[in-house]
Amino acid sequence: MTGYNQPLGGNQMPRFGGPATMMRLPSQPTAEGLDVAIVGIPFDIGTSNRSGARFGPRQIRAESCMVRPYNMATRAAPFDSLQVADIGDVAINTFNIFDSIRIIEEAYDGILAHGVRTLTIGGDHTIPLPILRAMHRRHGTLGLIHVDAHADVNEHMFGEKIAHGTPFRRAIEEGLIDPKRMVQIGLRGSGYTAEDFDWVRDLGGRVVQAEECWHRSLTPLMEEVRAQMGDGPVYLTFDIDALDPGFAPGTGTPEIGGLTTIQGLEIVRGCRGLNLVGADCVEVSPPYDPSGNTAITAAFLLFEMLCVMPGVQYR
Ligand code: MN
Ligand code: MN
Repeated sequence: MTGYNQPLGGNQMPRFGGPATMMRLPSQPTAEGLDVAIVGIPFDIGTSNRSGARFGPRQIRAESCMVRPYNMATRAAPFDSLQVADIGDVAINTFNIFDSIRIIEEAYDGILAHGVRTLTIGGDHTIPLPILRAMHRRHGTLGLIHVDAHADVNEHMFGEKIAHGTPFRRAIEEGLIDPKRMVQIGLRGSGYTAEDFDWVRDLGGRVVQAEECWHRSLTPLMEEVRAQMGDGPVYLTFDIDALDPGFAPGTGTPEIGGLTTIQGLEIVRGCRGLNLVGADCVEVSPPYDPSGNTAITAAFLLFEMLCVMPGVQYR
């Protein structure tokens, strides 16, 4: 394992001290030499209700100080075989959503040129659109595992094509993702029309509403998802509001009746074996997260995502 970056241990520096990088990993300015680059995007100018996700990367990094190197459930040892570092935040233009999208796209083009997989700390749910554009240029058409309370396939929001409720309609229209290799898990709540969740279904995608998840393990579902995704490149995007607000209250558009943290773990762990080219956790809004539980949950979900990246050793 020598030569791989290791998280700063709790016996080297108290967990509440030291640099607040993601998982206490070393930081570096570019993705050079990495297998997985951890990237923050402090962006929340696409939100439609409560803002604050701009503080997500900083808070999730802070709360990630309790992440230890080994996964005691799956025996994943991500830092034994992958070179991982925190490459900091994308310097978005918080006064201009379109310019920010351009900046994120260009940043990911540069990151992906190093041949890395990415783990992104959001930020609101607008950010997968520019990420998927860069991913598509690198990998071709992608499969998508989208965990969320919301479908995020609005035609527009207040007349705008780019917002946190539109990214996956744009991604499908632009051919970035194949709707037949797309699954949405956890959708629920009230809609504008009774058919809001049918757009993806009508294109051949799978939509698993929250009610189908209630009271059950999602491990069998993920077996079906793996078959749906096949061997091609897959992107995983996890909107923290997929979880019930009892578990993850610190988010902009909470909906009752959501997934449990256990089901969230089953989804992420069920991605093992897929050709994951990138993953994110978005929509954590620290101003609405006084206990820190939402950021802690996001930090551990991101660790679990790292634990299912291709190339991870299991002990
Ligand atoms: Mn979303
Ligand atoms: Mn959502």
